[in-house]
Amino acid sequence: VSKEYGQLAYGDHPLSIGAGQTISQPFMVALMTQLLALREDDKVLEIGTGSGYQTAILAQLSSMVYTVDRLDRLTQQAQKNLYDLGCTNVVFKTGDGSAGWREHMPYDAIIVTCGSPSIPEPLKEQLADYGRMVIPVGDRSSQVLTLVERKGKDLMEKRGCGCVFVPLIGEYGWDDR
Ligand code: SAH
Repeated sequence: VSKEYGQLAYGDHPLSIGAGQTISQPFMVALMTQLLALREDDKVLEIGTGSGYQTAILAQLSSMVYTVDRLDRLTQQAQKNLYDLGCTNVVFKTGDGSAGWREHMPYDAIIVTCGSPSIPEPLKEQLADYGRMVIPVGDRSSQVLTLVERKGKDLMEKRGCGCVFVPLIGEYGWDDR
């Protein structure tokens, strides 16, 4: 987080990272990470890079992380943050992550750190067999943390706790307004 929020960085709550976006509450980062049940050879897709905090944790627990944010300023800053930490197994992209990142599919795990009206079809398609996806699904102001697991052609959905994320803005998310 920026220097002005340094004093608050150890609190268990979200903080502003500029551009109207937030770094997630650490408890939520932990919960979503746990639900992904990562193995060290997993390939992960993250939608909503933001500060890169969640990205850095994913990178420690998997072999490769592909991360997308729609705001280039955040991508640039996160890239710098992770480079400074010596984190080398992350590939960044600026763009609409609601359509996933077809080039590197399939992914063993997909994490969406913004709220979506539904589970985007392209993300379902890009999930590997036995893959797990964690995504907040609901309306613009509150969502339900949802776990999706693929077994062959079947996708199983489990609804968990309530949560509040900034909206997923894009073709398979919400309109920009
Ligand atoms: N995991 C981040 C959370 C960032 S908040 C952290 O802990 O810092 C959610 C992020 O999702 C914002 O940075 C926002 O720009 C991004 N976002 C919203 N819609 C998106 C989309 N369609 N594709 C990619 N990123 C998106």
